[in-house]
Amino acid sequence: MRDCKIVSRKFELPNSHTLEVSKAHGGYKTLEKLREHSPLEIIDIIKASNLRGKGGGGAPAGEKWELMPQNSLKPSFLAVNCDESEPGTFKDRQIITKDPHLLIEGILITCYAIRAKHAYIYIRGEYKQFQDILQGAIDEAYEDGLLKECDITVHRGAGAYICGEKSALLESMEGKRGHPRLKPKQKEPEWFFDNPTLVNNVETIATVPFIVQNGADAYRAFGTEQSPGTLLFSMSGHVQKPGVYEAEFGTSMMEYIRHFGGGVKGGKKLKAVIPGGVSCGVLTAEECENLTLDYEALRCMRSSLGTGGMILMDEDTDMVVALKNILEFYHEESCGQCTPCREGTGWSDKLVAKILEKKGTKEDLNKLLEIADTMNGKTICVFAPAASAVIVDFMRKFRDEFEAKL
Ligand code: SF4
Repeated sequence: MRDCKIVSRKFELPNSHTLEVSKAHGGYKTLEKLREHSPLEIIDIIKASNLRGKGGGGAPAGEKWELMPQNSLKPSFLAVNCDESEPGTFKDRQIITKDPHLLIEGILITCYAIRAKHAYIYIRGEYKQFQDILQGAIDEAYEDGLLKECDITVHRGAGAYICGEKSALLESMEGKRGHPRLKPKQKEPEWFFDNPTLVNNVETIATVPFIVQNGADAYRAFGTEQSPGTLLFSMSGHVQKPGVYEAEFGTSMMEYIRHFGGGVKGGKKLKAVIPGGVSCGVLTAEECENLTLDYEALRCMRSSLGTGGMILMDEDTDMVVALKNILEFYHEESCGQCTPCREGTGWSDKLVAKILEKKGTKEDLNKLLEIADTMNGKTICVFAPAASAVIVDFMRKFRDEFEAKL
């Protein structure tokens, strides 16, 4: 497997989180040549690289940057999404603890390109110990004079999953409840206190220095035509060596699991994989056989790459228990604005509990699918459709296990 460390290049160095080590290994070098380019030229480089957002959606980052006004009378902002609450995903915390200065460098470049003078890092409430390391790096950057033209503020969330949704994140930053907003009909920036704001995930921003330093082609040399570059995949569940490993898009999933993860734990057989956090469709072992890790291949399987949070399940996994676990999460984390989501997540959770207690009937299985249908496409954000797809996938692919419990 090709070595392709773009974001994780300094992860293994002792004290890699410090400014001294970062600078000794090329950190902040990009800033020296930044002024050779206009802000619009930087956006063009990012567009040419086809960098795709690494927080779940996979939208082209350059197109989002382009929506930011260059001559606004209002101040522009950057909000870096470090909420990372998707079960199975733990890659951004690796960046902020092992190379926070790479993120700060990426923030400075991004702010220059979108003409923002203030960036916020919205960090998951539970990440207190990681926040301390990040804040230490920001303090070092201030002392070194790196943040003369741009301020960085860390904003700590209160532990709600939905605040990882970009509009809910901004609502939360404005001091309100973290409720997703209705999507505008046309493409436009996000708004923070009515000011144009770019929201990007930590890994996306941490990839920017490599692209600006080495050029769009150097980034596109990795990955596939439509999914260029690399992703930090976090691997957990029934795997020998769980952890975060960077690989280029287009890598064979099974090769990745064997090479980095050492295969399925205890030498057991693989039963299923959730490829990108629990909001992505579950895949059977057979479906994983010839699958590559890129957005297009996963879409063909009616799943997605999501946040790259890969969860392995071995042959002994009870898929009804696994679904119950996931539905408890959805039930707990629904923000409650939309009735199909608020009621549907709770109702489906209770129905699966009934099936697990061996009190379920065939009608309950049909009811579950009916509820899933009601949750799909009728809500403000994609949380409920994701829950719906999870139910449908589990029941379609492992129906025999549900029926065996009736
Ligand atoms: Fe909230 Fe669920 Fe509606 Fe999203 S779909 S806005 S999480 S109630």
